[in-house]
Amino acid sequence: MATERETPAPDGAPRGARGTARSATTAPLVLTGARVVLPTGTVENGRLAIDGTRIAASAAAGAEVVDVSGHWLVPGFVDIHNHGGGGASFAGTAEQAMAAVRTHRLHGTTTLVASTVTDEMDLLVRQAGLLSELAEQGEIAGIHFEGPFISPCRKGAHSESLLRDPDPAEVRKLIDAARGHAKMVTLATELPGGIDSVRLLAEHGVIAAVGHTDASYEQTAEAIDAGATVATHLFNAMPALGHRAPGPIAALLEDERVTVELINDGVHLHPAALELAFRHAGADRVAFITDAMDAAGSADGRYLLGPLEVEVSDGVARLVEGGSIAGSTLTLDRAFRRAVTVDKLPVEDVVTALSANPARLLGLDDRIGSLEPGKDADLVLLDADFALKGVMRRGEWVVAPQLP
Ligand SMILES: [Zn+2]
Repeated sequence: MATERETPAPDGAPRGARGTARSATTAPLVLTGARVVLPTGTVENGRLAIDGTRIAASAAAGAEVVDVSGHWLVPGFVDIHNHGGGGASFAGTAEQAMAAVRTHRLHGTTTLVASTVTDEMDLLVRQAGLLSELAEQGEIAGIHFEGPFISPCRKGAHSESLLRDPDPAEVRKLIDAARGHAKMVTLATELPGGIDSVRLLAEHGVIAAVGHTDASYEQTAEAIDAGATVATHLFNAMPALGHRAPGPIAALLEDERVTVELINDGVHLHPAALELAFRHAGADRVAFITDAMDAAGSADGRYLLGPLEVEVSDGVARLVEGGSIAGSTLTLDRAFRRAVTVDKLPVEDVVTALSANPARLLGLDDRIGSLEPGKDADLVLLDADFALKGVMRRGEWVVAPQLP
C-alpha cells in the first residue's frame, strides 16, 4: 500500500488504522486509483475524499493519500433483515446485539436493521425497548418485527404456538414499544386484521412487508393497494409461483410499488429463481438481505433462533425439529461476491440492491446508500475478485485497508 504520509506498516500489521482507530476527527483522507461505483456509473481510476465522518467534494489541503489501485470502492451495505451474527442475536442483551452488529460491520454492513422473531408479546415489547436504545445511539437503523402476525401454514422457523392474527391494536403496541424506531413489520396480510394492520403501519410510516404468508395473488394485490411495499424474502415462506394460482410471488414481482427482498446465499434460492426475480423487478426494486442468524460470521453448531433450537451444518441453518431452513449464515460481502461472480449481475446493479434501495426504503437516502459528497463516509473496499479488503463507517476504518 502506498500512503504518502506514513511509513509502510510491517507485513501482517493492520495498515491505515494506525494502532488506535482513525478517529472521526483525524486528518482528511483521499482514496485514489480505485474503480469507484457512483450512482451515475463506475469511474475508473477515481478518487474519493473523506473529511471527518463525511464524503467530501474534494480533498482538503494536507489530506492523507491512500492508493487503492486495483480495487473497487462501493457504498457500505445496508441490511434491512438481520437476526444476528457472531454467535449473538437481537433477541438477547444489548451487549449481544452489539456483538452481532460488529460482526456484520466487519463484513461491510455499515447500516443494519435488527430483526426480531416470533415470541411472547411482552418479550417482544421488552426487546423493542432495548433495541430502540441502540437505535438512539446510532448503532442500528431501527427494528424489523418478523412475526408474530404470520401464517401457521408458512411459519418457517417461527414457533407455531406463539403465532397470532395481526390485530391492529397489538401491531400498535409494538410500534409504540419501539419509540419511533420501528422500521418494518412482516405479516401475513390475508389473516383476519391483516389489511387493517397494513393501513395502520403505512399511516405510522412503518414498512408493511408481506411475508410468511399463504395469500393468493388477489389477496396480495389487496395488501399492496392497502400500503404494503416490501416482500419479505421473496419465494421463501410463501406459496410457489403456479401457472393457475400465481400466488403472492407474481403480485409482489409485478407491482412497481414493491421492493423484493432476496437472500442470495445459494441455499435459499436457486440461481434461476434469483435471476427471474432480479430481471423482472429490475435492480431498482430488489434489496439483498442476509436474514442472518447467530451463526453468521461464526462456526457450525447448535444455536437458538428466538425460542427454537437450530443446528448449523456446513453453514446451513435448520431447525432441529422439522428441519426447516432457519435463517442464513450469510454476510453481505458474500452476497455481493456471489451476485457478481455466480449470478453475473452488473456491479452497479448489485450496489443498487445492497445499498441504494434499502437506504431509500429506510428513508435514509439523504445520508447513506451511495458515494456522494455530504453523505456519511460509509464504504467498502473490494479487490479485483470482489473479496472484502476494507470497511469504513462514518469516516472510521472498521476494517483497515488490507492492500498488497
Ligand atoms: Zn428473518
